Order: sequence, then structure tokens, then C-alpha cells
Amino acid sequence: MTSPDPAFYHPAPRAQQFCSQCGHALSREIPPDDNRIRDLCHHCGAVHYQNPRNVVGVVPILGDRVLLCRRAIEPRYGKWTLPAGFMELGETTEQGAERENQEESGARIEIQSLLTVIDVPLVNQVHLYYLADVLGPDLAPGPETLEAAFFALDEIPWNELAFRTVSTTLEHYLQDRARGDFPTHHYAINLRFPD
Ligand SMILES: [Zn+2]
Repeated sequence: MTSPDPAFYHPAPRAQQFCSQCGHALSREIPPDDNRIRDLCHHCGAVHYQNPRNVVGVVPILGDRVLLCRRAIEPRYGKWTLPAGFMELGETTEQGAERENQEESGARIEIQSLLTVIDVPLVNQVHLYYLADVLGPDLAPGPETLEAAFFALDEIPWNELAFRTVSTTLEHYLQDRARGDFPTHHYAINLRFPD
């Protein structure tokens, strides 16, 4: 398999060439009274700060099965994942998780508690997964999903999961379920994607 275009790994380039305010060329330097390199416009004075992005998703549970989606996009085309994606402007994390589930699986769900908060600093992301009850078996996967399917909890395809954030979130779910208590787990993964 040829390796995917690096542009696939981020929804937009992090480094910009031109100022989005005035169109002049940007300079990469540390502004006065700052301590990091920024994209700085000497023409209009704009400082184009870059900050981490949130990935929001759900662990959709129907009885003793979990709903997974097989990715129709890079990275990790063909691998199984929990419904998740980049949060949009103007929505809450719960709304984003619900929207991503709707887009990728089409299942009707009811969001429950926050299960994992995962810092992934090497790709400048924070991933948040909510537990969700699935309200019925009907699925309607969208174009980013090859197929969506329910897996018995002892038949999760661990070796075919797309991301470490997905596998660790599922591990926490199984451990919590065995204990009957679902606290929020916060941890960091210090690996690049795909890991
Ligand atoms: Zn400018």
C-alpha cells in the first residue's frame, strides 16, 4: 500500500504561507512577549495562533454488543473504529459526538457519561469518548464508513482497530463494565498516528 498523502492526517495545514486577514506573506518567528514560534503578519500585525483540535466520539452499546464502523477513509482505511471525528465550531462535545455517530453509523443513540479524555500531544489533539446507549438495531452508515456492525464484547476485532485511542477506550469500557462502575478516565498517548 502506498502511504497516504500527509494532508490526510490533518484537516488543514498547520503552517500557513499567507495571512488570512490581509493576504500578505507570513513570517514564522517568536512574537515579542511570547515564547513559541507563530505565523506572524508584519503587514497587519495578525498572529495566527494554532491550538489543539478535539476529536469527539461515542462508545455505542446495545445490550452486550458494541457498535463499530469500518473506515472508508485514510488514515487506517478498512480498519474498525468507534464513531468519532473532529468537533465543529459552535457545538458542544456531546453534540459533536452525537453528530459524528449519526454521520458514520446512523444509529439512534442516547449519550451517557464521559468515558475517556485522551491527550495526544504529538498530533496536537484531545480525544473525548462518551458512553452511549443504542436505541435500536437500525444502521445507516454514511460515506466515511464501509460498514457498521455490532460486535459481541468478546468478539471485538482488537487487531483490526484503527487507533490506540479506540482500543484503550474499549479496554476501559470492558474493565468498567466488569466492575459495574463507569468513571471518566484521563490519560495521554505519546504516539503519532497511525501508531
Ligand atoms: Zn496580515
